[in-house]
Amino acid sequence: MKIDEYEVKIKKENRKTIKISIEKNFLVVKAPGFIREDQLEKILFQNINKVRRIINKNRNLIDIGEKHFLESNNAMLLGKSYKVEVINSYVNNVEIIDDTIIISVKKDDENLKIKLFKNFYKNKCIEVITPIYKQCLDSFVEDKCSIRPRIEYKFYKGRWGAYYPKDNKIVLNCNLVKLDEEYIRYVIFHEISHTKIPNHSKEFYNVFNNVYDRVEEMRIKIKKYIIN
Ligand SMILES: [Zn+2]
Repeated sequence: MKIDEYEVKIKKENRKTIKISIEKNFLVVKAPGFIREDQLEKILFQNINKVRRIINKNRNLIDIGEKHFLESNNAMLLGKSYKVEVINSYVNNVEIIDDTIIISVKKDDENLKIKLFKNFYKNKCIEVITPIYKQCLDSFVEDKCSIRPRIEYKFYKGRWGAYYPKDNKIVLNCNLVKLDEEYIRYVIFHEISHTKIPNHSKEFYNVFNNVYDRVEEMRIKIKKYIIN
């Protein structure tokens, strides 16, 4: 049995309760001897959110912020990891060649590199996220008369997106394009649900769950990523 990327290892012990921990690449489940394996499996899946919380705690959080690539020479795009190479050139440019993102700069300047990199991601948002956004919107609105917020992209810290009812627009964090499409859809449906309910009340989650069926799973999964 596997949960996310972890193989489950069951250890029967003389104990009264179930204890879950992460040891190397295993999700170790220490359980009382009287619980059968199929019962245990059922318990794990009934408590999948608790299990994922334990997994997240043990996972190293991944910083996908703008400055991160300068230190690590690594960057993400749509869930894929790329090497980052900086070269001196007569033009300023960012391009992908195979598994490398190449930043060409006229002068060796950190702020210039970050500026170019931010531009690169913003353009990727328009190219990749906007069509996904339109798809999500189409599946959300029942009739053509419903509100169709326009979409914008910004480099936010600490939030993946926001809905501004007065301007009828949704702003998504440019960093979102670094993650796999499933995260992008999750955030889009979250923000679109705010067009019906502005706060995070029970009513909001009713709307959200109605249009998107992996709310709880993705809510926990996205916590792995931080933006510094
Ligand atoms: Zn929200």
